[in-house]
Amino acid sequence: MTDKQKKSLLKIIISALLLIALTFFPTYGYIRFFAYIIPYLIVGLPVLKKATDNISHGQVFDENFLMCLATIGALFIGEYPEAIFVMLFYQIGDLFETIAVGKSRNSISDLMNICPEYVNIERNGILSQLDPDEAVIGDIMVIKPGEKIPLDGTILEGTSSINTSALTGESLPLDVSKGDSIISGCININGMLKAEVTKEYSDSTVSKIIELVENSAENKAHTENFITRFARYYTPIVVISAVILAFVPPLITGGDFTDWLMRALNFLVVSCPCALVISVPLTYFSGIGCASKQGILIKGSNYLEALAKAKTVVFDKTGTLTKGSFFITEIHPKNISENKLIEITALAESFSTHPISVSIRNAYNENLDTSRVSDIKEISGYGVKALVDGKIIYVGNEKLMTQIGCEYEKADKGTIVHVAIEKEYAGYIVIADIIKEDSKDAISMLKAIGIENTVILSGDKKAVVEDISKELGIDTVYAELLPDDKVKKLEELINSSSDGSVAFVGDGINDAPSISRADIGIAMGAMGSDAAIEAADIVLMDDKPSKISLAVKIAKNTKKIVRQNIVFALTVKFIVLILSALGMSNMWEAVFADVGVSVLAILNSTRAMKIKYK
Ligand code: ADP
Ligand code: MG
Repeated sequence: MTDKQKKSLLKIIISALLLIALTFFPTYGYIRFFAYIIPYLIVGLPVLKKATDNISHGQVFDENFLMCLATIGALFIGEYPEAIFVMLFYQIGDLFETIAVGKSRNSISDLMNICPEYVNIERNGILSQLDPDEAVIGDIMVIKPGEKIPLDGTILEGTSSINTSALTGESLPLDVSKGDSIISGCININGMLKAEVTKEYSDSTVSKIIELVENSAENKAHTENFITRFARYYTPIVVISAVILAFVPPLITGGDFTDWLMRALNFLVVSCPCALVISVPLTYFSGIGCASKQGILIKGSNYLEALAKAKTVVFDKTGTLTKGSFFITEIHPKNISENKLIEITALAESFSTHPISVSIRNAYNENLDTSRVSDIKEISGYGVKALVDGKIIYVGNEKLMTQIGCEYEKADKGTIVHVAIEKEYAGYIVIADIIKEDSKDAISMLKAIGIENTVILSGDKKAVVEDISKELGIDTVYAELLPDDKVKKLEELINSSSDGSVAFVGDGINDAPSISRADIGIAMGAMGSDAAIEAADIVLMDDKPSKISLAVKIAKNTKKIVRQNIVFALTVKFIVLILSALGMSNMWEAVFADVGVSVLAILNSTRAMKIKYK
C-alpha cells in the first residue's frame, strides 16, 4: 500500500469507529448534527473537494457530484448515519480501485525494469559509469555479468548468454559473441562483454518500448469512450429523474415529502456509474499488462478490442512465416565464373537490409570491399541496381529482368535471384528459405480460436509460396505481388470482411505500408527494427508467429471480461434503481449495491491480468 492509500484506510477506520460509537450515545438536535458531521467530513471531504473542483472545470455531472448530492440531501433530512455510510463505502470502493490499478501498473512497470540506470563506458582506456543518455554512438561500453545491457550495440569482445525475457517473455537464454548485436533491456548472464554503442539512449529499443507503453493509455477502445460518453449523458438524466421523483409524486398524491425525497436520494446513490467508469479501463489495462508480460506490446485498448474481433489474419512470408535467412542451393553462372557471380551479387547487395541481400552477403564468406560499389538503388519487390567496378549490375527477380529488357533463363526451382551486368545476363542463383519452427502451430492455433481466414501475401514466386502455404495449412495465397499490390490485396480483404477486422503481420522490412493500412498492424521481431515499432499497432518482441494467437486469446478474454462487467453492473443497477424508486430499498442497500458492484467488477477486471496462458 502507498502512503496515500494507508491514509485513506485510516480515515475510513476512524470514521467507521466514530459512527459505531455514536450509535451508543443518543444525541439530539444541533448536537446530533455536529456529532455526525465529524465522521462525515473525515471520509466525505475529499469527495466534496473533487466534486467542487470538477464543477469549477465545468464538469458538473460525475460520480462525485452524485455522491455529494445524495449525502447532503440525506444530511438535510436528518438521515445522518446513512450519509456517512454512503461516503464510507464510496471511499472503500475508491481505495479498492487504487489498489487494483496500482497492481496492474506494477506489472507493466516490471517491464519497465528494462530501464537501465547506468552504463560503463571506456574512453581512452578509462572506465567510468555514465548516465545512459550521456553515451554517444561509437562509445565502447563494458557489460559485466549480471548487468543489464544499457544501450543497443554490437559486441566487440567476449561471449555470453543473455536473458531476453523482460522483452520477449522467452525464458531460454540467447548465446551471443563477437559481431552479434545486443539489445538494451536484456540481462547479460555470465560473460564480460565489450560492445560498441550503435544507438543513443533516446533511440534505443528500451526508450522506444517505454514510450510505447506510456502512450498506450491514450488510444482508448470504443467501449471505453462509450462509457465516458454514457456517463456524461446518463448522470444528468439520473439527476433530473431524481428531482422529478422527489417532487412530482408527493404533489400529485399528497404523500409524505421526506419519504419521496429519501427515495430520490437512494435513486441517486444507486445510479452512480462508478463500477463501469472504473472497471472497463482497468480491464483493458490489465489485458495490455498481461500481453506485455508475454512480449506482446499493444499500443492501446482500441487495438485490443479490434484484435478480439479479428476474423482474418494476413501474413507476409519472408521473415514472418519463414526465417528470412536464405541459403544458396544452386549457382548457374553464364559467361562468368561461379565465384565472380557471387562476388558481384554480394557487392550489389552490400547495403540492403532485405533478407535476400543479407543472406547472399553471408554466403559470400570473404570481406567485401564496399568502396567498389556506388549508386545503389533498391527497387522494392524487384531487387537492386548498383554500380560495381563501374558497371551497372541488376540483381533481382524475373520482373526486374523483364523490366530492363534482359533475356533470362527460366527456372522453376525455388526463389531465383537473376543477375545482369550492363543488362547482359550473367546467370542466376537459387536460394531457399526455412520455415520457422512454430509457424505451423501458429496457423492451427489461430484457426482453433476462431480466425476464419489465414492469408499469405508474398512477392516471391507462386510455386514457392504455394508450397509453403500447403505445408502450413494457410487458406488463401497471393504471390508475385509488388509492395503496392500487397496493400491493394489487403484493402480488398478489409473491404470484403464486413463484420471482422483484418490483422496484418509483417517483419517490418518493406511491408510498413501494409502494417499501417491493416485494421491491426502487427510487427514482429522488434528486437532490432525501429521502423517496425513505429508503424505497428501491436509489436511482438520476438519473431514467433505463435505469439499472434496468444495475443488474440488475450484480446478475446479481455473483451469477455469487459462485457461481463457491463452486463452485470447494468443489471444490478437497474434492479436496485427500480426498487429504490418504488421505495423498496433503503440507502444502506443502495450503497451496498453500488459499492458491491464496483468491487466485484474490479475483482473481475484483474482477472484479465491473472489468467494463465500456455
Ligand atoms: P516477400 O513478400 O517474400 O517479403 P518482397 O516483397 O520483399 O518479398 O520481395 C519480392 C521479391 O522481389 C523477392 O522474392 C525477390 O525475388 C525480389 N527481391 C526483392 N528485394 C530483393 C533483393 N534485395 N535482392 C534480390 N531480390 C529481391
Ligand atoms: Mg518482406
